[in-house]
Amino acid sequence: MRRCKQRPYSVRAKIVEVLLLKMLPDVQNLILLQQADREILRLKEEIAALPRRVAAIEERLAGTKAVLEKAKSAVKADEAARRKYESAISDQQQKISKYRDQSLAVKTNEQYKALLHEIQFAEQDIRANEDKILELMVNAEIREKDVKAAEAELKAEMAEIEKEKIEARQRTAEDEKQLAEWNAKRDTARAGVSSDLLPQYDRVARHRGSGLSEARDHKCMACQVMLRPQTYNEVRAATHVVVCESCQRILYHDPSHDEEPDPVVVARRRRAHPKFESSQAWYFRPSFEDHGEVFLVYLNNKGESSRHVFDGSSGRGVGDVLVREGEYRLAFPEDFNDDVIRLNGSWTESELEEWGNELPTATLDALHRDLDLARVESRKRGHARTETVASEHPAAS
Ligand SMILES: [Zn+2]
Repeated sequence: MRRCKQRPYSVRAKIVEVLLLKMLPDVQNLILLQQADREILRLKEEIAALPRRVAAIEERLAGTKAVLEKAKSAVKADEAARRKYESAISDQQQKISKYRDQSLAVKTNEQYKALLHEIQFAEQDIRANEDKILELMVNAEIREKDVKAAEAELKAEMAEIEKEKIEARQRTAEDEKQLAEWNAKRDTARAGVSSDLLPQYDRVARHRGSGLSEARDHKCMACQVMLRPQTYNEVRAATHVVVCESCQRILYHDPSHDEEPDPVVVARRRRAHPKFESSQAWYFRPSFEDHGEVFLVYLNNKGESSRHVFDGSSGRGVGDVLVREGEYRLAFPEDFNDDVIRLNGSWTESELEEWGNELPTATLDALHRDLDLARVESRKRGHARTETVASEHPAAS
């Protein structure tokens, strides 16, 4: 077996191209329709949310106004209290002056002492009122700060709400414009979907919020349920519309989401090498009889060997299973020409039986991945090594 010749493109890349060309027009229009439906919903929600945002700021504004009013009325209450204390002081001062006048005219010591007591009492009251006034004066500074802070906050909020209102108006106008555009796109997309498919999409969209789902990695991405291999292959083949059995959404496959092995990363990774002596051996051939690329599996069993050939793109069986006497390399000598590539692959007998005449997508993908690795490795090895057989020290360098 000799090193395979370099090829300008990988098998996988070719499959991707074919699938892109094969995407159904109905499905393409449904993808556009779903995108339009989503954008329309988003825009409508945004348009509805803007007045609510302004209302929320206005509510906050009312709260700040109330705080300011409270601070102002506290200042007024303090001023009134101060006037009350001042007038009480002035009353007591008048009383003292009256008592002093009276004291000049008293006849007895008792009377004089009584007036003196009254004067002392009034003086005490004056001091108490003066203390209260002092307290208010200290408090007045705090009150003033409260008022100023509330006034500043109100001013800032008023400016903010004006800005928000202007923005809301501009955003709404822009949203309305986009909404009109998306509505037009939606109409175009709907017109491009066949009339028997549209009700299916609408019905599921109404119940589940979306009527279309991507099939990726063997899964329906909307409901996350694993798809049967046959269903997944049908979606990928894109020859007719396929629906998710679990959620009823129409399925599509986006080939750009297929995992493409990065040749650089792949080359750094050490590829497992196929065991030369094994009961099961997988090979790739760029051409086989009148077919193009194929995968072949040989099974050795009790002195006999069998050969099963599968199409490289679809995984479908090619021709009949051949059984010959002897170990496979001796039994099928004509198969091993220069272009053949030995691959990794080991599946149980019951798995192979279950597949029947078609490889599941996962197996097909695994074979393609190993083929890509084998090619990268082979390129790296260059002329240094001419065989793809097992080695303890493979190409990793
Ligand atoms: Zn689903």
